[in-house]
Amino acid sequence: MNKTGKLILVPTPIGNLEDITLRAIKILNAADVILAEDTRVLSKLMKHFGITNKLVSHHKFNEHKTLQNIISKIEQGLQIALISDAGTPGISDPGFLLVRTCVEHGIEVECLPGPTALIPALVVSGLPSDRFVFEGFLPQKKGRQKRLLQLADETRTMIFYESPHRLAKALSMFADFFGSERQACVCRELSKMFEEIKRGTIYELKEYYEINHPKGEIVIIIDGAPKKKTTHKNAEDDYV
Ligand code: SAM
Repeated sequence: MNKTGKLILVPTPIGNLEDITLRAIKILNAADVILAEDTRVLSKLMKHFGITNKLVSHHKFNEHKTLQNIISKIEQGLQIALISDAGTPGISDPGFLLVRTCVEHGIEVECLPGPTALIPALVVSGLPSDRFVFEGFLPQKKGRQKRLLQLADETRTMIFYESPHRLAKALSMFADFFGSERQACVCRELSKMFEEIKRGTIYELKEYYEINHPKGEIVIIIDGAPKKKTTHKNAEDDYV
């Protein structure tokens, strides 16, 4: 019987190698091809788990060019795994374009549950986790202010990815747009040896990181804006 081709997205650890799942190892061993963002970074992980499968480079600079080739391989029956440098592919990492193209071609897509930085950061922050928005990296220059302005009245908890050298500046902008007294949390080096979780107002965190220059990888969680009291007739009244 012919094997059915499919794309399988495989999350990899964001720091602690023990966070790989048994299923991820099984899929990485069994896949016909593994598409990897940086083959050097991933070969360390592969070596650690004794995975000898072939890695093919797939990153934001070649993903448009290689797309058609990948699609035809899957249509021929190959099972292709996609991994990024860390965490879940497609989350601030390549993956979306390939998934969308597979969906358009009626190709089966599977994503294994697994590591990603945003969820542990949100949950450990102590800020409401029932409703949230993931904003990823803010635009670096153009569009940054516009995006922050759009988010000023956002009532759900907000999640941002940021680089360590831009952290203090980002907190200063959050203070300007969201108010310095809003509660926030900076999660640094999650799951790694020097993991650090700092909670406080945006102002307190800005003061702290202006003096203590951070290193490593960072997620910022910001409390949503207080809900505005509305004078409108409660829409639910229409449904009782
Ligand atoms: N695909 C990844 C995921 O699922 O979270 C995100 C990749 S994105 C290129 C890298 C960013 O994720 C970092 O700049 C940082 O904001 C966040 N990140 C990744 N690992 C982290 C960690 N161990 N601790 C804190 N933030 C992390």
